[in-house]
Amino acid sequence: MIYCRSCGKQLHESARFCPQCGFNFQPVEAPSPSIWMAVTALVLSILTLLLLLATFGDMDTLNTLSQLESAFGSHSLKKKLAEDAANSAAGGLVFGLPAGVLGIVSLMQKRGGRGMGIASLVIGGINLLLILGLFGLSLE
Ligand SMILES: [Zn+2]
Repeated sequence: MIYCRSCGKQLHESARFCPQCGFNFQPVEAPSPSIWMAVTALVLSILTLLLLLATFGDMDTLNTLSQLESAFGSHSLKKKLAEDAANSAAGGLVFGLPAGVLGIVSLMQKRGGRGMGIASLVIGGINLLLILGLFGLSLE
């Protein structure tokens, strides 16, 4: 039900004017669907991606150093490399999983921000590949 904006009489949704006071109006539009879920999903997935990419950058440097180190028979950097990979993969899951869940729920409930919801899932897929890659590196 809606109410006349002029006199407050209760009217049927399809009414275009008020039979009591004659006020002519367009039905009040439903409030726009909330897009906070899609926004949060997108922000979280981008943060996760940045975290994972930063780790891969660090690991590239560390990997070069560890190859130098192994020439001298030491493997402490290689161990640190594996630890960093595992930590970052775990961190990626902590941020990436809620992002994925929010993105899916937001799309399924047809909330606003459909484009952002889809983008967050696409980035989420990339994140998942990076996380699997990091877990793989941590096991080497
Ligand atoms: Zn009225």
